[in-house]
Amino acid sequence: MEESIICSQCESELAEQDIFCPNCGYPEKGDETEINKYHFRVKLKRDIVTDAEKKMKNVKILLYIIIGLNACLGLFYLFDEFTFADGIGNLIAALIFTGCLIWVNKNPLMGILAAFVFWILLQLSVIFVDPALIFQGILMKGVFLAIFIKGVNSAYDYKKYNAQLQEMNAN
Ligand SMILES: [Zn+2]
Repeated sequence: MEESIICSQCESELAEQDIFCPNCGYPEKGDETEINKYHFRVKLKRDIVTDAEKKMKNVKILLYIIIGLNACLGLFYLFDEFTFADGIGNLIAALIFTGCLIWVNKNPLMGILAAFVFWILLQLSVIFVDPALIFQGILMKGVFLAIFIKGVNSAYDYKKYNAQLQEMNAN
């Protein structure tokens, strides 16, 4: 009777002719080069996940800033009856971004996407009211835009590579 071979990484069963584990790809019967390649691939994926975590943290910091700005501006506007309505608008925006921030902690990809879409809509609504405002704080808007786009990409990578690592049982 043949002895069954168990993958040392994920404990899946290997067929006798298998060099690589059919589940996680570990070269159970591979040579040193193949084993090194496997560990290198795991390391690459881990590096991507770590980098994605950093960029997702940047989005969170950005959201704290946006929430703070909207809350301060909103409270300030409330004191003047001419800007009262704007003040309410800013406070609602601060609340919505706070909701997005909570969502980012639970589901980074969806939360960041929601915050990004809402932020774009806000920018568009401002431009709709007064097209000249597109140039107001354009550098800051560019930086925000870049952080959001990197954040969405990173949240996607984070999800994808974490799932791959889990499949490889290498977390
Ligand atoms: Zn395996």
